[in-house]
Amino acid sequence: MKRTDPAHDITVYERNPAGSTYGWGVTYWDELLSNLYFADPESAQIVRENSIRWDSWVAYIHERATVTANDSDVGYGIGRHQLLAILAERARSLGVRIEYEHEITHEDELAGADLIVAGDGINSTLRERHATHFGTQTTLGRNKYMWLGTTKAFDSFLFAFVETDHGWIWCYGYPYSHDHSTGVIECSPETWKGLGLHQTHEADSLALLEKLFADILDGHPLLGRALNDGSAHWLNFRTLTNRTWHRGNLALVGDAAHTTHYSIGAGTALALGDAAFLAHSLYQDDRLEAALARYDRRRRAEIRRIQRAAHYSAQWYENLPRYMDLSPLEMFTLLGKRHSRLLPHIPPRLYYQVGHAIERLPSPGVFRRGSKAR
Ligand SMILES: Cc1cc2nc3c(=O)[nH]c(=O)nc-3n(C[C@H](O)[C@H](O)[C@H](O)COP(=O)(O)OP(=O)(O)OC[C@H]3O[C@@H](n4cnc5c(N)ncnc54)[C@H](O)[C@@H]3O)c2cc1C
Repeated sequence: MKRTDPAHDITVYERNPAGSTYGWGVTYWDELLSNLYFADPESAQIVRENSIRWDSWVAYIHERATVTANDSDVGYGIGRHQLLAILAERARSLGVRIEYEHEITHEDELAGADLIVAGDGINSTLRERHATHFGTQTTLGRNKYMWLGTTKAFDSFLFAFVETDHGWIWCYGYPYSHDHSTGVIECSPETWKGLGLHQTHEADSLALLEKLFADILDGHPLLGRALNDGSAHWLNFRTLTNRTWHRGNLALVGDAAHTTHYSIGAGTALALGDAAFLAHSLYQDDRLEAALARYDRRRRAEIRRIQRAAHYSAQWYENLPRYMDLSPLEMFTLLGKRHSRLLPHIPPRLYYQVGHAIERLPSPGVFRRGSKAR
């Protein structure tokens, strides 16, 4: 908005100190970059320059095989601190004020503003005060997950599936700098309890996970973020939706409006996309109510496909045992097809065979344990 009209007077209120964020890295795809190039080419250029890029995917399947797909979709990783620092610096250079350590507890504190954009995350205070109006709904995922860092810098997007006496546990990870990667470790609640992860403090959880994922960590440690009492940060993913994304002069963007399962790595792109779409709507129509209604209607429709993909992706992992008896090649191919709405209803091998015949699914390379990956 500041780019389109420098006369706009914009303030960002952030409750945390400058330079503080949760999580480790952000993975994103070309779509984020192209949208950002459209909204603000300068930010897009700096974000790209500071990102790690990969174009191959690797799946390590415990004691069976390592499967790789080369020349696949290009992906990127960037540190969360770095991304925030770039965007904050760019906003400041355009004349936006950023007030850190300023928590907004009520929209009355912003009386006089023409527009209030609530980008205050999944637990949005501004939204929760009007939960009935917004029609907020949350669904809790079945699986347990923990978000970790490591000093092992992977050189591709990595999936690792490890079989234990209590079921499968897996990790998806990617590099976000030259010396760090991040990964989400996930398993069913039965495996979580069976491994005793519900009882362990973070240090014990990490020690056990380092053992289970030793083959991909090459001796590097996992890095956590314990809760105040030292317990590990295991969570269930919350999918949040709202019936409407605006009320009066208040508009919801990003996780405050909708969340999408982390397994498709889209949340940040969607949050940035919401902001750009909102700015564009306001630019096209200076009647606030009409512009917000347009943003709500059109942007909601635009992201529906991605939300559906996230739903099926989360479900694929929740039904993981359904796919683990397939050959590594079949399993990896269907991992790439996990956004399909048909897959949950068709026997996996049949889906693979028909898909292979019709679509000529690209064949990833399969490497038995001990053989050298290309
Ligand atoms: C395990 C996990 C892994 C993920 N991995 C990825 C990934 O790889 N790629 C990706 O694109 N997405 C990923 N996501 C999703 C992504 O993190 C979110 O979708 C994205 O951060 C949403 O951005 P946001 O700005 O809407 O909200 P947030 O990032 O939550 O930011 C909200 C901000 O508002 C501030 N705030 C909150 N309340 C107040 C208040 N009352 N006053 C002032 N400030 C306030 C907070 O401090 C925070 O800085 C992941 C999510 C999870 C759970």
